Amino acid sequence: MHSPHFSVEPSANDTVERDFTADNAPGLRSRASHSDRAPLMFDVIIAGCGPTGAMLAAELRLHDVRVLVLEKETEPVSFVRIVGLHIRSIELMAMRGLLERILEHGRRRPAAGFFAAIAKPAPQGLDSAHAYLLGIPQPVVVHLLEEHAMQLGAQIRRGCAVADFEQDDEGVTVELADGQQLRSRYLVGCDGARSTVRKLLGVGFPGEPSRTETLMGEMEVGVPQEEITAKVSEIHTTDKRFSIGPFGQGVYRVVVPAAGVTDRAEPPTLEDFKQQLRAVAGTDFGVHSPRWLSRFGDATRLAERYRVGRVLLAGDAAHIHPPTGGQGLNLGVQDAFNLGWKLAAQIRGWAPETLLDTYQTERHPVAEDVLDNTRAQMELHSTEPGPQALRRLLTELMDFDDVNRYLIEKITAIDIRYDFGAGPDLLGRRLRDIDTKHGRLYDLLHRGRGLLLDRTERLTVGGWSDRVDHLADPTAVLDVPCVLLRPDGHVAWIGDDQQDLDDHLSRWFGKPAH
Ligand SMILES: Cc1cc2nc3c(=O)[nH]c(=O)nc-3n(C[C@H](O)[C@H](O)[C@H](O)COP(=O)(O)OP(=O)(O)OC[C@H]3O[C@@H](n4cnc5c(N)ncnc54)[C@H](O)[C@@H]3O)c2cc1C
Repeated sequence: MHSPHFSVEPSANDTVERDFTADNAPGLRSRASHSDRAPLMFDVIIAGCGPTGAMLAAELRLHDVRVLVLEKETEPVSFVRIVGLHIRSIELMAMRGLLERILEHGRRRPAAGFFAAIAKPAPQGLDSAHAYLLGIPQPVVVHLLEEHAMQLGAQIRRGCAVADFEQDDEGVTVELADGQQLRSRYLVGCDGARSTVRKLLGVGFPGEPSRTETLMGEMEVGVPQEEITAKVSEIHTTDKRFSIGPFGQGVYRVVVPAAGVTDRAEPPTLEDFKQQLRAVAGTDFGVHSPRWLSRFGDATRLAERYRVGRVLLAGDAAHIHPPTGGQGLNLGVQDAFNLGWKLAAQIRGWAPETLLDTYQTERHPVAEDVLDNTRAQMELHSTEPGPQALRRLLTELMDFDDVNRYLIEKITAIDIRYDFGAGPDLLGRRLRDIDTKHGRLYDLLHRGRGLLLDRTERLTVGGWSDRVDHLADPTAVLDVPCVLLRPDGHVAWIGDDQQDLDDHLSRWFGKPAH
């Protein structure tokens, strides 16, 4: 059953959505009770419980950080936006013991056809034990991450919007929309593209405004499947922004270019969809009974800074780009994974002086690269003759396995190499999941600690053993004697010399405890 129309606040800078699910009506559940409102001191307050905020909360809890997530919506959203989780995000789930749960709810598909939706088979020999796309709806990802964070002890309060904050030498005072004030040592804005935290922080968000708008929604249709298939294949040869496909239980996912948008804050209506379907396909396919309707743009922007003092930004709050390639959620979750252990180290008091700043130096360039690849993909979606010719050329080039692999590794984020200084190619990259004599490598990283994988069996993590595990395994399948992994699985050191190792343990994990 569907509720009558009601509008919701636009949820993102370039996205407006209308939800027709009765359970999601704002105000159905009462807001935080009075007892919840007592001022409390936390280590970290996270604004926003989307995928980024939920992942960050879980990562912080692994290190016993007192964390509160404030989410302005009273109910989780039901919009099914994403294509799915890409390889690196699936690896992160494996590294935190979430893989089985997440696999239960998703469908594995080949790691292929993401770049500008150019249809090609998956490249040979991708360097991952999880070389597939996991098709899984965004609300399910958020639910699983939120559940995981709560199981680890994170507090999540819904119906609480961050309205203002003030930082000083010791912490941040966060003010909610109802005037309540809370104190924490750090605040992280994971509050999406329209981020209140970013705006209050006064951090610039330069880039390009939206040039094209696209409608997307789920609804039922009034014509047979064959009629839809024929139309879609006819139009899709020239217009990649049009598609209608079955999405289970008689519901179809409809994507069609929008037109004549005057008020970008106003959610689209079913009539908008009908009009645009008629304009593009010559028929509205008898669409009816929408589950949800949304409109998104292709604005591309990157925050100038990810940190100002005790306030940080992550996920869509720090970067926005068109959804082509399906990278936004993945990028945000990976930001959180990079930030979590560093912020925890800062709070626990063992962080080397510059560790927290490496969040920006490592993740800002990654986002820059994603923004660039989505810009390129958007050009390749254009119906103009020049970009269409370029698309044909790239389609031919992708027959070379190296080209195909290069692009897939980029979209799936397994190509990332942080700049840790000169060294072998593996330095700064993430290590794939491998077999060790104590089990799968990623299973040994569930607690979010560092790990020394030692094939020489003569090294030690000494005074860092409270932060770093030592795994002596001469049989481990590695081309190098030993690797030191950070809690995010990136290779922080390669070698076999104890003094050199100690220097690198200090660099990443601070002073030894004894
Ligand atoms: C059509 C479409 C398709 C997409 N497809 C994909 C895809 O296939 N793959 C992919 O990886 N990404 C995809 N994305 C992008 C993805 O949806 C976003 O990148 C992702 O949701 C970002 O997560 P986030 O947690 O950073 O922000 P959000 O998901 O926007 O979460 C922010 C949260 O903060 C809350 N909030 C906002 N303001 C406040 C406040 N003041 N106080 C407290 N809480 C607040 C919001 O209610 C929200 O819950 C797509 C996006 C669109 C529009």
